[in-house]
Amino acid sequence: MLERGWFNKMTELLKLVEDLTGLSGPSGSEEKIRSFIRKEAEAYGDELFVDALGNLIVVKRNPDGKKILLAAHMDEIGLMVTFIEENGFLRFSPVGGVNNEILSGTKVIFDNGTAGIIGREKLKEKETAGINRFYIDIGAKSKDEALERVKIGETATFYPSFHHMGPRVTAKSLDNRAGCALLLQVLKNLPASLPNEVYFVFTAQEEVGLRGARTVSYRLNPDYALAVDVTRTGDTPEPEFKMDLALGKGPAIKIKDSSVICHPTVVQRMIRAAERINVPFQLEVLERGGTDAGSIHLSREGVPSGALSIPCRYIHTPGEMVDLNDIEGGFSLLVELLKDKW
Ligand SMILES: [Zn+2]
Repeated sequence: MLERGWFNKMTELLKLVEDLTGLSGPSGSEEKIRSFIRKEAEAYGDELFVDALGNLIVVKRNPDGKKILLAAHMDEIGLMVTFIEENGFLRFSPVGGVNNEILSGTKVIFDNGTAGIIGREKLKEKETAGINRFYIDIGAKSKDEALERVKIGETATFYPSFHHMGPRVTAKSLDNRAGCALLLQVLKNLPASLPNEVYFVFTAQEEVGLRGARTVSYRLNPDYALAVDVTRTGDTPEPEFKMDLALGKGPAIKIKDSSVICHPTVVQRMIRAAERINVPFQLEVLERGGTDAGSIHLSREGVPSGALSIPCRYIHTPGEMVDLNDIEGGFSLLVELLKDKW
C-alpha cells in the first residue's frame, strides 16, 4: 500500500519535472531554466544571487555551521549552428556529449521557437557518419530563408517530449532537470533552522566540462560538496555492459566516476543517512562520465565531495527515463543528511 501523501508529493514532483523538461537550456544559455528555478526558490532561501557565469545560488544561512554546497546542473546538451547551406539546411556542432546514433529523424527546437528535423547524408555500405554528415532541416528553401529564422551560433535542443507511465517518466533533459527538481524539493521542505550553512547551487555549463561548478566552488569555498545528477544504469538488454545499477531501486550514492573518487567521509555520511530512515539505495561506480563534483573537489586546496545520482536510461537522447521513486528516495536522503550536524 502506498503511504498517504505519496500521491500528492508525486503529483507535485511530476509537475515540476514536466515544467523543467519543457524548457530549453543548452550550456551557456540557461536563462529560461534559471528564471523558472529562481521563481520557485525565492521564498525559501535567506539569500539568492546569480554569478558571472550564470550559476544560481540559494543560501540557507547558519554562520556557526559547516558550509555544504549542493550542486545540480541546469544545462542540457544541444546543437549549435555552424554553417548554412545554399539550399537552407543547417550544419551544426555538438554542445556537450551528443550521440550521433540517435540523431536521424530527431526533432529539435531553437530558442526563438523555430523547429527542425535532423537528417543525415546517405552513407555507403558499412560507412559510419561523423557529426559533420548530419544537418537540421527547418523547412527553409534557401540560405536567405533559413537566415530569417536562425543565425550562426544559435543552439537547438531536443524537442520537449515529456510523458509518464506510472512512476516512470520519459523526457528530454531529465539530465539534469530531474536533479534540479530534486534539489528544489529539498530546499522547499527543510526545517526552518539547520545545523549547517547550505548552498543550493544550480550550475551552468556542466555538459561542456563542469565549468560553472568550478568558479562557484572557488567563490563559496565550501567545507563539503555534493553533486546531484543522473547516472547510467545496467538494467537494459546489453549483455556486454555490466553496471550494478537499476531504475526504481533507489537513488545511487556515487563511489567513483571518470571525474571524481568520492570522499569516504561524504560517502559514509550518505550511507548512514539512508540507513537511519530506511531509504533503499544503490552504490554507483560509473566507468565513463562525470559530474560537477569532478571540478568542485579540485577547487582551492580540495573539497571533500560526493554525489547523489538518479538512475537514468538513454542519457543524452530525446527519451531519457527515470523512476520518480528514485527521486523521492534521493529527496528523503538529502533532507536527512542536511539535518545532521557536519
Ligand atoms: Zn548531467
